[in-house]
Amino acid sequence: MQALWPGRGAGVSGKGGRGGKGGIRSPSASSTSASSASSSTADQLAGSLLGQALGDALGFVVEAQPPEVARVYVEGWLRAGRAGEWPHPQFPFGQYSDDTQLARELLRSFLEARGWQPSVYAERLAELFRERRDVGAGRGTRSAAVRLLMGVPWNESGTPAPYAGNGAAMRAGPLGLLLPEQEAMCRAAREQARITHLDPRCAAGAAAVARAVAIAAARLPIDAAGFLNEVASCAEAEERSVGDAIRDLAGWVALSPARAARHVHESGLDPAHMDRWQGISAFVTPSLLWSLYAFLRSPDDYWETICTAIGVGGDTDTMAAIAGAVSGARLGVAALPADLLARLNDQGEWGAEALTHLAHSCAAIVEQGP
Ligand SMILES: [Mg+2]
Repeated sequence: MQALWPGRGAGVSGKGGRGGKGGIRSPSASSTSASSASSSTADQLAGSLLGQALGDALGFVVEAQPPEVARVYVEGWLRAGRAGEWPHPQFPFGQYSDDTQLARELLRSFLEARGWQPSVYAERLAELFRERRDVGAGRGTRSAAVRLLMGVPWNESGTPAPYAGNGAAMRAGPLGLLLPEQEAMCRAAREQARITHLDPRCAAGAAAVARAVAIAAARLPIDAAGFLNEVASCAEAEERSVGDAIRDLAGWVALSPARAARHVHESGLDPAHMDRWQGISAFVTPSLLWSLYAFLRSPDDYWETICTAIGVGGDTDTMAAIAGAVSGARLGVAALPADLLARLNDQGEWGAEALTHLAHSCAAIVEQGP
């Protein structure tokens, strides 16, 4: 049985149009090869966080829009050097959403506790909602935050199954770099998922994203089947169906985006959108698969990965956030478009410089070791 998918937070239904400032170009740095990038934890973590934030901000503009709209945005704006000109109905360009807010708060909890502590992260997560600073959060995360604020302990606060949105997976990328030991990483992925989502598919999705970031950050040549096998092993320890779906992606990863999207639609991988294809929903399995697909299509090209993640339509901010976290971990900060990074912000705060500083501070703790 699958969950039903609610509309996302305020401001996701407005139809975008042309307007705003000009002068934003497609990045020329996106072809930077993995081998030329620094491999330090600091660059991997900052690359992953900024790659996520920028993907999120670019995808947020057309979140919940159907494929026809997302395709026009990608072809006529992102690929045409006009990123940032298609306005979000509520926010100026550069605003990222809950996906990155909650990844950032995970890093802040790590810094505060000098290691992974689920109770500290739960406090930070709840605080974001108490202060009403959350942007575009889904129903599962929002209702869990309410329970946390009412005093429910972090390991009981999650939204029960069969709700299985991608809210726990979208913020799990940093764990792949914060916890180099795989068992500790999987446990942390499971614990952080449980704060908001009790369905084991959500823990599986979170473990998969963290593992994908860790593998990508190694900056070795990518073999799609081998990559998917490793990610699937991590996911299936939490929930079998997610692991199986990741492994099966090896069979369709070579399809073009149009054919791959048709495959997702016709194969029933995304039951929430079976009746009417509106792109990929916020159900954890298909959105995770499409994010990995987008990365594997172009593992050495951040911009292409983001365009693939968004062009399918639906939960575009989360798919671009996850794909961006994996791609950014591999390619590093230098491969991301500096002009667009400079516009990142969360309601005027937490721009690229502050996110980078946070990532570097956490990386210093990781490098010190236990
Ligand atoms: Mg979001």
